[in-house]
Amino acid sequence: MSQHDYALDIIVQGYPGKSVCHGGLGWSTIALLRGAGRVALIDVGTFSHRKNLVDGLRKHGLTPADVTDVVLTHAHHDHSINWVLFPTARIWIGASEMEWAVQQPWGSTPVPELYVRELNGSPQVQRVRHGDEILPGMVAYDAPGHTPGHMIFVLSGKDRDIVFTGDAAKNRVELLTRAADMSYDPAVTASSIDRMWEFWRRRPGTLLVPGHDLPMVLEDDKPVFVGKREAAIVSWFGDDLEQTTHIALTVPGR
Ligand SMILES: [Zn+2]
Repeated sequence: MSQHDYALDIIVQGYPGKSVCHGGLGWSTIALLRGAGRVALIDVGTFSHRKNLVDGLRKHGLTPADVTDVVLTHAHHDHSINWVLFPTARIWIGASEMEWAVQQPWGSTPVPELYVRELNGSPQVQRVRHGDEILPGMVAYDAPGHTPGHMIFVLSGKDRDIVFTGDAAKNRVELLTRAADMSYDPAVTASSIDRMWEFWRRRPGTLLVPGHDLPMVLEDDKPVFVGKREAAIVSWFGDDLEQTTHIALTVPGR
């Protein structure tokens, strides 16, 4: 397999946390990958990401019409819903993930029922199988545990390899412990995370991009974050709109 020169930009940073009183946050990673004649997004987020996504593309001189490929790690709403923003792109998703997602009983999982039903019947959908090279130099591998048909993607780049793990390992602590906060089978999750580590250790300098955390590289076999975490909320607790309270969701050094 030849090595291609790709540029990677994180359009939306993933966040490794959940809310205490309001269900899942769904703050997932959206990555832009450009090279080999392709403009690809790895996961595309949920409704709250739409402005970030379009603004992020614009920052790089792009519009949604320029996106040639949308690569979905899995069907959960916080990674998949915005495929509908890209009517000219190929939408890549695991064949077994697609089949599983449309069979989920409505109202019982984080699968967006109508969006996956629409995708399943769309001429844009490209069903991926283990070992498929979906972009030049980027291969898909099965990584079940979070969802049954979840896939990870390994890019053999010219200067470095990149491993996109989605929610098969959402964050640093899941990579370290080989355990996950959301897993239908801990042993299956552990073996998927072991597979990531094999790819991560294969070539020095390999970047790992998880579904809900900052990218990381290995230094002395320990994951080290690349980039600075940015996360906060602004609340209206006062008596006028201008009076707001800024609540940081970051801890120095973490
Ligand atoms: Zn998920």
